[in-house]
Parts: sequence; C-alpha cells; structure tokens
Amino acid sequence: MAEHGAIIKHDQKKAPKTGAWRYMHPEVDKEKCIGCGTCVGFCPDAAIIIKDGKAEIDYEYCKGCGVCAEVCPVKAITMRKK
Ligand code: SF4
Ligand code: SF4
Repeated sequence: MAEHGAIIKHDQKKAPKTGAWRYMHPEVDKEKCIGCGTCVGFCPDAAIIIKDGKAEIDYEYCKGCGVCAEVCPVKAITMRKK
C-alpha cells in the first residue's frame, strides 16, 4: 500500500528561533533573484518570504542549512560564513 505524505501547518510565531544555530549565512543577490519562490518551498525553517518580488530571509529562523542556495535556479543565493 502506498504511503501518504502530510503537510504540517507551521506557526512561525510559536516556533523556536533556530537562527542561533547558524554557521553559514545565506545572502540573496536581489539583482539576480527572479522571485520564483523555489527557495521558499524548500526552506525547512519557513524562513524565506517573497517581498516586493524578491526573496527575503528571516535570520531569526534561518539555521544556515544551504538548501535555498542549492535549489535556486539562477544562483541568487550565496552561503557565507557569518
Ligand atoms: S539556509 Fe536553510 S534555513 Fe536558511 S533560509 Fe536557506 S534553506 Fe532556509
Ligand atoms: S529560488 Fe532564487 S530566484 Fe527563486 S525566489 Fe529564491 S532566491 Fe529568488
């Protein structure tokens, strides 16, 4: 029998702030970002929103995993040491 997935609703305001775990720091190049939202869907901490057509990262929650930089189709996100 096939297994089913689940979507867990995430209440950001009640979530623990995971930003302090961060070793690497994602930076969005707003010139390159095309606002596709791919990074938003992949971020495990729901730390990215699209604002004014560009990705914006909430560093209180971003734990620096680097997934956003990997999935961005135009390489608009660079991971740097904080
Ligand atoms: S580095 Fe990880 S936690 Fe931080 S914004 Fe990117 S995907 Fe989200
Ligand atoms: S995946 Fe890249 S281009 Fe798409 S919204 Fe995120 S930073 Fe911008």
